[in-house]
Amino acid sequence: MRADLLKKELGIFTFEDLMNHYPLRYIDRTKIDVIGSITLQTDYIQVKGTIREIQTLGERRQKRLIAWLEDDTGVVELTWFQGIQWVQKILHEGSRYLVYGKTSFFNGRPQITHPEIELFDPALAKGKSFLEPVYPTTEKLKAKGLNARQLAKLTAALITVVSEKDVYENIPEVIVQKLDLLKRYEAIVSIHFPKNLQDYEKAIHRLKFEEFFLAQVRMAMIRGRRHRKSKGVVFEKVGALFNSFYNHHLPFELTNAQKRVIKEIRNDTAKSHQMNRLLQGDVGSGKTIVALLVMLIAADNGYQSCLMAPTEILAQQHYNNLKNLLKDLPAGIALLTGSTKQSERKTMLEDLKNGSIKILVGTHAVIEKVVQFNNLGLVIIDEQHRFGVAQRAKLWEKAETPPHVLVMTATPIPRTLAMTAYGDLDYSVIDELPPGRQPIITVHRFETKRASVMDFVKNEIAKGRQVFFVYPLIEESEKMDYENLMAGYEQVKSFFPEHKYRISMIHGKMPAEQKEVNMQRFKSGDTHILVGTTVIEVGIDVPNASVMVIESAEKFGLSQLHQLRGRVGRGGDKSYCVLLSAYKLGEEAKARLKIMCATNDGFKIAEKDLELRGPGEIEGTKQSGMLNFKLANIVNDKDLLSIAKFYAETVLKEDEELVQPGHSGLKNYLFSQKGKTAWSKIS
Ligand code: ADP
Ligand code: MG
Repeated sequence: MRADLLKKELGIFTFEDLMNHYPLRYIDRTKIDVIGSITLQTDYIQVKGTIREIQTLGERRQKRLIAWLEDDTGVVELTWFQGIQWVQKILHEGSRYLVYGKTSFFNGRPQITHPEIELFDPALAKGKSFLEPVYPTTEKLKAKGLNARQLAKLTAALITVVSEKDVYENIPEVIVQKLDLLKRYEAIVSIHFPKNLQDYEKAIHRLKFEEFFLAQVRMAMIRGRRHRKSKGVVFEKVGALFNSFYNHHLPFELTNAQKRVIKEIRNDTAKSHQMNRLLQGDVGSGKTIVALLVMLIAADNGYQSCLMAPTEILAQQHYNNLKNLLKDLPAGIALLTGSTKQSERKTMLEDLKNGSIKILVGTHAVIEKVVQFNNLGLVIIDEQHRFGVAQRAKLWEKAETPPHVLVMTATPIPRTLAMTAYGDLDYSVIDELPPGRQPIITVHRFETKRASVMDFVKNEIAKGRQVFFVYPLIEESEKMDYENLMAGYEQVKSFFPEHKYRISMIHGKMPAEQKEVNMQRFKSGDTHILVGTTVIEVGIDVPNASVMVIESAEKFGLSQLHQLRGRVGRGGDKSYCVLLSAYKLGEEAKARLKIMCATNDGFKIAEKDLELRGPGEIEGTKQSGMLNFKLANIVNDKDLLSIAKFYAETVLKEDEELVQPGHSGLKNYLFSQKGKTAWSKIS
């Protein structure tokens, strides 16, 4: 019965699970404050007293139970909105209780809502000062008598019967000694029943290190195995296509970062294992040219490449761009999207199959079954966070030997996140922008100052520049998004009358052709202003656009804001980003706008984003499960993460399959945990 509930409510199936159900916090039973000491500044408090009166008030959903607890110095109100029946059973007027909870004031009187409560036991209070664990529990469990206290008793009983053999060491002895870590057994005992604060801290330190270390070992093993075992296409040489492009058609000198990344990819694809590489580079760092050069290497070796983009507009842009760059080089390039005409599609599919198309650019239309390659050797995915894992898997089926994979993202990933969420991928960074870029000037303005912002925009247009206006998506309703955008469009029109200004608009629901037409009009300079939703977020390149106005900027996430800002500043002109917001802002929104104004550095912004939102909320990582650490946190414990990574790699360098006796504990543990951790490969 209890076991069932434990399973259902807390996911505790085994003794081991119970042992790994760590306390939420600890209380010192000997530290009891008096009720009269509660002030507005008091946070959590432990008091003892006598229950004077119990009342239930309200009906149904409004129902609440109030009890008054009194000691010599005052009275505090205890309130429950849930679990009322259970409280009624255990609470008796005139009895003495020990009460713990967060205090607040209501109508000037102190109260504690949903306190922890138990009969006061003088024997416990007189004992030696010690930290008693308080476990996370649920209302349902409490109702069945499995409150935090009971869980503590269960765990205490369990701890007395397990021995060092049951909780065997899973970190190699050398490392335990070198880093002066608690043994695993000691750490488990101490995290449940610490003798003192120091003891507790040592236990936490050890267990956090363990979490990071195990995750790093796992990922390094996957990476290592892929390198050793996976069969991949070999790009043996750099040939005529690459060389003639590099020597005659390259429109600019590559940055050192671009050169380095191409070398890394070149090395990787020349070996006989499948490349699985994440390439990240800030907006405008020049990833497209890297993609093209790698695709030319593939073509030089007789292999086809596929470049996938998340939106039709972006696919089209890549295609035009690449075609332009390639000029007359015989590199057989084609574009396949949802709106490719049936007749074109037919010949295209044939040309793909017979190998005369060397480079296929497209949207997710390319993963359809009917799209078959002659010999696909390379897949490049632009803006990876928009492509699902399952979608990508379908591409692998298109070739006998899995093609090399290069995932490109302009959403900079903080180092710690790259190490954890993407740790099983190889990874390259373009950390340098092409020369001559002027930093974009970013300002934050309240909507009340809209008129002066519009004057500024007019000025820029008078100088021959173009302007973006972006409106947020309000995800609950497409209809509302549309209305919101239309209202914005009307507003922009009221400032920029039709006889003087030309405005185009794009949004997600527009037919692809119309989107393309409107986009092209803006790109070619025919319209001055482009009003749109976040569809213009990804990748769009219009060098003459110098102002990005983001409406309701407080509604955007940091990486989105940074992406949007990256749409300007691509030409030689001074560029601006104006963040318009409501006057009243939450703390987090304020912090976001502030960092946007303070820096253009995508990596700094990504770090801040991680800090503000926490690791679990970052796009693309939720499904990875890599960040499900119980104690460790990649923001607060990033130094420990680096140390864990270093030791994990050291271990695997000398013993890649963990066969040495000194690594048996580690190996056994990893093996026993297989299937328990929900961590999926990114690609
Ligand atoms: P992103 O990394 O955001 O995809 P792009 O590949 O679109 O960036 O490049 C942004 C702009 O910078 C393009 O106009 C491109 O032609 C230009 N560019 C790329 N590399 C260089 C370079 N080494 N020198 C000068 N301009 C470059
Ligand atoms: Mg790009």
